[in-house]
Amino acid sequence: MTSYLWTPPAAPSLPVRGKTERLPVNRIFCVGRNYHAHAIEMGRPVDKAAERAFYFTKSPQALVESGATVPYPPETQNYHFEMELVLVIGKAGFRIPEAQAHEHIYGYATGLDMTRRDLQLVAREKGRPWDLGKDVEQSAVCSEVVPMAGVVLDQGGIQLAVNGVTQQQSNLDKLIWNIREIIADLSLYYHLQPGDLIYTGTPEGVGAVVPGDEITGQVEGVGEVLLHVGPAE
Ligand code: MN
Repeated sequence: MTSYLWTPPAAPSLPVRGKTERLPVNRIFCVGRNYHAHAIEMGRPVDKAAERAFYFTKSPQALVESGATVPYPPETQNYHFEMELVLVIGKAGFRIPEAQAHEHIYGYATGLDMTRRDLQLVAREKGRPWDLGKDVEQSAVCSEVVPMAGVVLDQGGIQLAVNGVTQQQSNLDKLIWNIREIIADLSLYYHLQPGDLIYTGTPEGVGAVVPGDEITGQVEGVGEVLLHVGPAE
């Protein structure tokens, strides 16, 4: 039995629909600019023929379950929502061919990639890492995991509302890099592991929230995600 100086923090995990066991979360990957209309609203259109997908990560400790109330985070005046389909890896793989990508899918969830947009844009303009904008405490919001082993989602509505007013509305068929392509490409860089979450990117309509706001999002055929934004600490 290993002894530690102090009690290690609990492993990040998520509930799984229809199961009592929780899914242990390994890493959190996020795809950048994966819907054309969002890439354009961010001032960085994507030419798929000329560029590859890119990724950033969030610490697994940034995970927070749907339904939570999180404090408005420090050092930002522009805290943004990004509604995303979350892909959950269930089987390890490295250099996975697109044709076998489905074998590595455990299921899906709905998530919010909450972002300090002001800090992300400063980092982008200055050529600095995105961590202060993206790896925000309690910023990887995720619903329960829906087991859908081997299922490749390639269409379905995705939407988000703030205080009941729709802000984002699109379809998974508008993903620039689809589920198979994401798994194949990301696995060129990383040995994917069970429990890896991949936030697949957000459609257009991102915007800021303020303390007191309630964010609700849905992906057709997967489920809902909910977040309450509390006062700043
Ligand atoms: Mn995102």
